[in-house]
Order: sequence, then C-alpha cells, then structure tokens
Amino acid sequence: MAISSFDKNFSNLVNAGFPYMYIQSYEEDRVVQAISRVLNNHELVRTPRELYVWSETDGFITDGKRVRETRQPVEAIEFAANAEKSGVYIFKDFHIYFGAERNTHPDHVVIRRLRDALPILKATRKSIVFLSPRLAIPADMEKEISVVDFPLPTEEELKGLLDELVSGLNPAAVRVTPEEKRELTRSALGLTMQEAENAFSRAIVAQRGLTKEAVAVIHEEKNQVVRKTGVLEFVHSNLNIDDIGGLENLKNWLRKRNNSWNERAKAYGLPAPKGVLITGVPGCGKSLTAKAMSAIWNLPLLKLDMGRIFGGIVGSSEENIRKAIQTAEAIAPSILWVDEIEKGFAGTKSDGDSGTAARVFGTFLTWMQDKTAPVFVIATSNDISSLPPELLRKGRFDEIFFVDLPTLKEREKIFQLHLSKRIKNSEIAHEITLDRETLHELACASDGFSGAEIEQAVISALYEAFFAERGLRKEDVLKSIRESVALSVTQREQILALREWASKRAVLATARDDREEMDGAAKVTQGGRIIDYDL
Ligand code: ADP
Repeated sequence: MAISSFDKNFSNLVNAGFPYMYIQSYEEDRVVQAISRVLNNHELVRTPRELYVWSETDGFITDGKRVRETRQPVEAIEFAANAEKSGVYIFKDFHIYFGAERNTHPDHVVIRRLRDALPILKATRKSIVFLSPRLAIPADMEKEISVVDFPLPTEEELKGLLDELVSGLNPAAVRVTPEEKRELTRSALGLTMQEAENAFSRAIVAQRGLTKEAVAVIHEEKNQVVRKTGVLEFVHSNLNIDDIGGLENLKNWLRKRNNSWNERAKAYGLPAPKGVLITGVPGCGKSLTAKAMSAIWNLPLLKLDMGRIFGGIVGSSEENIRKAIQTAEAIAPSILWVDEIEKGFAGTKSDGDSGTAARVFGTFLTWMQDKTAPVFVIATSNDISSLPPELLRKGRFDEIFFVDLPTLKEREKIFQLHLSKRIKNSEIAHEITLDRETLHELACASDGFSGAEIEQAVISALYEAFFAERGLRKEDVLKSIRESVALSVTQREQILALREWASKRAVLATARDDREEMDGAAKVTQGGRIIDYDL
C-alpha cells in the first residue's frame, strides 16, 4: 500500500517524540488500523513502539487483553506515563473531558494530570493520541497538542470496498461496465467507509444488484453528509459562462485554467491553480461567477458558509473549518466557494474571541499555502479592507480580481442577457427589439447601475407592461431605470474607498475592449490594476 500523507505526518511526529496528538474522525477502526500499519513499518518508525487503545468502557486493551484498572481517565494517563516501554497510546473520546459538549466544562483533574505527564512522556518517547469524532482542545493544552488530519477514504480504498460487496453477489446481478464501476467509486469520494458501505448496500438492495443507477443513491447520501457538516452545501446551478455579462478579463483568466486539473497539465509541469479572490461592488456578478464556475470547469462546487463556521450550530469553529477542507479534498478535483470571506477572517486580531478566530484563520492559511489536492478556492468578498493582509500575500491566491460597476459596454451586454432571457420564449408579442441602438440607449440611461440593479429594472418594467396588459416596450425599461436610485449614488463613498483599495492590489475584471471612462452618476474611472488576460 502506498505511503499516504497521514503516514508521513504521523510517523514524523512519533519519531520526533511528540507527546500529544489529536485525530478527529468518526472512523475509529480505520484510524487504529492506519496507526498500527505505520508503527509496523520500520522504514517509517525507526524504534519499535507498542500500540495501546483506551476507552472509558474497556480501559486499556493491548494484544487483545484488558487492563481492568485503567478505566478511569486519570488511571489511564498514569498507566501510559509509568509504562516501561515506549509506545503509542490511543485515548478514545477525550473530547468529553475537554469540555466539547455543550454546558460541560473541561475536567481540570484530567487536564492537570496530562500536563504533569508531559515531561515523563517526552523523556520516555511515548505519544498519546486523542481520537474523537469531535475536535476539542482545552485552551491550557493548545501548545502541547498537535492536530493530525486523517483523510477520508481514497478512491482505491472505496474500490476495495465495492469489490468486496460485489464479490458477495451473484455475477448476473452485477450489471455495470468497468468504467461505470469506476464512476460509482469516484462518486462516493467524500464519504466515510461506513457511509459508503451504507450507500452502496442501499443501492444494491433497491436495484437488486449493482447498476449504474446506484450513482443517484450515492449522490443523495453525499448531499446529506455534506449538509450535515452544517457549513457546506453543494451548489447545483445551470448558470454558464455566457450568463455573465462583461467581466471578460476575469472570464479569460478562468477559461485559461480550464483543464489545469487533469493529468496532462500535471505531466506538462503545471501546478494546480490555488484559487482566486473576487472582490468588488455588491451586485456586480461575484456570486454569479462563482456559481457559473462549476459549469465552466465541469467540477463539483461546494459553498462554504463562513458565518456558520463561527455560528457554533454544530461543532466548534476549528472542527468546522477542518471538516470543510477535508470534504473538499476528498471530492477533489473540486471548487470550494468561500462566500463573504470577510465574515470569517476580518478583524482576526481585534474581536472578542480572537483566539478561536486566529486559529481558524491559521488553519485556512496554512492549507491555502500548502495544499496539494486539486481544490480550487474561489473566495468572494464585498469588504476586503478588513481582511488580514496575510490572506492577500502572494502564494495564497493566484490572482485578486476587482469587479467594478459595469461599464457602458458591459451594461449593454447585461441588458441583452436579462431582456432576452425573459422575452425569448414568452408567448406575448413584446414590442421592444434588442438591437444595438436600444441596448445602447438603455445602457446610457443606467450609468452607475450594478448588474443586479439592471436585472431589477428589467423585472419592474415587465410588471408595468403586464399590468397594462401589453408586451414590453423600451419606454417601460427606461421609466423603471429613471425611477430607481442606484447604489452607486447612495453608497458613493464606500465605492470610492473600494476602488482606492483595489487600485493597488487587485486586477480589473473588465477587459480592455469594454473599458472606458465612466460618466454621469459615478463620475470616476474604474478601480483596479490593469493586467489584460487575453485569450
Ligand atoms: P455579488 O457581486 O454581490 O455577488 P451577484 O453575482 O449575486 O452579486 O449578482 C446578483 C444578480 O445580479 C445576479 O444573480 C444576476 O442576475 C445579476 N447580475 C449581476 N452582475 C451581472 C453580470 N455581470 N451579468 C449578468 N447578470 C448580473
């Protein structure tokens, strides 16, 4: 079996004599097996170490034998500290003593005993591994405990599982081609072994055998698992690149990175792109672009809700961010959309609970910096001024784009998109014609409007026409434009500040051909540095 990143990390920590490690996983058996495998691999772990597993119900078990008098956690810690040989001690469910459950406090006696044991464990080169489905690290022990990520099953492991399940079936009941079977295994990425087994088995029972329809069952299971994380959701959208009006520079940049995930790009020596940060004026197409990415690259899109990471609805903030990263990596190649990233990381230093925020931020930054799994991060933000500078440093995002209010030419395209979408298949004889002059006239009239405001103007005009029981006229749209007050008027100061910020740090999303001096309400040139990504 190939050496995994877990094998490497874990053995390094054991070799270096790290006394306390924390692994958060539901898959106790898989973790214990993986640790046992690492300890038995003498190329990885130089000096042999015995493995002990402790739980509150059984106490320590070693070589299948119980050590009865160690059921109390304090006794267990003492047992590990006093043992003669160096070893690895897995403690299950210590999150209970660390105060992970709501309305519980950390058990101070347990924590004190762990801290007392620290020098002894170090001197005798023993490691304690806390293995829990929940991540909870007491503040007093933060510096001593190293968190080790345990990845979800790989495609190879899932294939093994499916092969095993299939081997129990009548050969006639296996109605999939090898390619379809591979597709099934791939679709289960992101599930634990147990969840995958449940999904495969459910599908086999429902179809009385294995067929390609099993994919639907697996997707359903995966949707549920992702939703249960409380911070992630799959975004299924039928938006495409052509649904974005303007922003050609950004679109070209994205187009050029298509297929940079595949083996051919890797063989060419290209690193997988890390991600892009899109900031700018609200309502101008940031979320729209994120949603369209899934279709542009034909990859699954996961949306991370930053507010919920800290919301504490389920799990701790750190547990949440780790779980999100782990899930995105397991289904890689994938896109992780971090919406309103400022909500999570803004003011990491100043808020009340700065310890937690800083740790969550640290986890995310380290991951962005080191990530090798092909997970493309698309972060969107309306207020970048409060983002910590570390996030904007080179090496984190491949590029930072600024989406400004649409220019005249971009407004023409946005009107074209929204008008044609709504009148194209309608049974009503609309009076408006979408020729160049009309679009130009509408675009001129809507200077300072965001894309969202243009869409709104089109919708209100349609209401007017519907009420008057006739088709839509150009005048309806012009009237609704006149009647709305654009955000760029009411929030002029904020927009100017955004542009000022962007002019130093971000690249303009609008392409050369669509740029111009703006006139009218906003009366400012666009913000953002000018780098043209031509095709
Ligand atoms: P934000 O930049 O705040 O994320 P959105 O992308 O959510 O804004 O835009 C809101 C809506 O406005 C979109 O769903 C879309 O209908 C419309 N819109 C905004 N910008 C554009 C654009 N460039 N092209 C087409 N529609 C747009």
